[in-house]
Amino acid sequence: MNQLHKCVKCSTYTLEDKECPKCGGKVGDPTPPKYSPEDKYGKYRRKAKKKARIHSK
Ligand SMILES: [Zn+2]
Repeated sequence: MNQLHKCVKCSTYTLEDKECPKCGGKVGDPTPPKYSPEDKYGKYRRKAKKKARIHSK
């Protein structure tokens, strides 16, 4: 696989998927998701709970 990875230490882009060839640091996904969809649904769930409480009163 020619997936680009990015070193978390020196921010070097590399094709290595285990460690950075420059500094030996860990490499990771160059574009990590800023928020998880799970969190989004969690918000909706919390809202739904609030609504349910109001209705149960
Ligand atoms: Zn590095």
